Amino acid sequence: MYHAKAYSTISATSPLASTTIPRRDPTDHDVQIEILFCGICHSDLHTARNEWSSVMATVYPCVPGHEIVGRVTRVGSAVTRHKAGDLVGVGCLVDSDHDCPNCRVDLEQLCPSATFTYNSPDRHETAPVTYGGYSDSVVVDERFVLKVPSNLDLAGTAPLLCAGITTYSPLRRAGVGPGKKVGIVGLGGLGHMGVKFARAFGAHVVVFTTSPKKREDALRLGAHEVVVSSNADEMQQHAGSFDFILDCVSADHDINAYLNLLTHDGNLTLVGAPEKPLAISAFALLFGRRSLSGSIIGGIAETQEMLDFCGQHAITSDVEVIPIQQINEAYERILKSDVKYRFSIDMASLKTD
Ligand code: NAP
Ligand code: ZN
Repeated sequence: MYHAKAYSTISATSPLASTTIPRRDPTDHDVQIEILFCGICHSDLHTARNEWSSVMATVYPCVPGHEIVGRVTRVGSAVTRHKAGDLVGVGCLVDSDHDCPNCRVDLEQLCPSATFTYNSPDRHETAPVTYGGYSDSVVVDERFVLKVPSNLDLAGTAPLLCAGITTYSPLRRAGVGPGKKVGIVGLGGLGHMGVKFARAFGAHVVVFTTSPKKREDALRLGAHEVVVSSNADEMQQHAGSFDFILDCVSADHDINAYLNLLTHDGNLTLVGAPEKPLAISAFALLFGRRSLSGSIIGGIAETQEMLDFCGQHAITSDVEVIPIQQINEAYERILKSDVKYRFSIDMASLKTD
């Protein structure tokens, strides 16, 4: 065991602050990674503040961060996929049981005993729960370490490990492509990646935003049209017309307004995970035989496919790079929907702490 530098929070109402955490020494199958950049996902904030207590209560101290890009510093004796010096990524998953029906078909994210990168029981018992990427290093089983394409900016690559795969996976599964009309609700970290992927797949892309000032950015990011969701006339013009809508909103909102925009047999998939339950009108689903689904990140093979796609198409996240010392201000700005469009922490800043 060794100690790594990190930022943690000790309660739902405490700010994040500098600390040290235990990490295991790499086992035969582990890869040790020096973390270079870590994106800030809204899930970090939900967890740090224990907003998902009814589903997965936060164990403190909590070290968030699951959009990790770094360089391999050491590998265990049995590691074959990675070597010292490689640029790699780690997303929301660091282990699973490898043996359940879901793991056998590359759906590790649906494994009943998946180990998430933070706030998950630690299989190695180095600590009560896993600690995430707001840290200078991490040790991960080689099967959960992804290869990062060499042509991409690293700060903008980190968010692909969660925001990227979380939007890529449902868009792919829905068959989004030429001839399909696709809505993306909420232009934040997930939403802006959803726009980039839906556009790259060849769909007609419409962004729904509560922030009129994001209109120009939405078009620049790849949207064909932008609707300010408070404008009832603009919403009405799109009634019954969407094949697929991806809802990336982090807070309570009227989902029925979007269900009504779907064509018959259209689907709305939720990736946003608001703290409180959403109210659903049965009629918004019945009329039009519409369906409502959810989606959670993606499996490891699909995450590698997404990273390779991003390498081929030069897709990265639009990031504001910050030192870790600005993490608490960044959280407040995320809550105000004031981020363009993902914060990426330059982990070199942790050295000066
Ligand atoms: P984010 O960057 O904060 O973006 C959320 C966006 O939602 C905001 O930019 C805003 O967009 C919109 N929004 C915020 N408050 C709203 C409100 N009260 N009413 C309507 N719209 C509102 O968050 P993120 O990192 O993209 O994450 C989004 C959600 O997905 C979070 O709940 C997160 O936990 C969840 N998540 C799920 C998965 C998964 O696997 N399913 C993975 C990662 C994250 P506009 O300004 O454009 O309206
Ligand atoms: Zn995330």
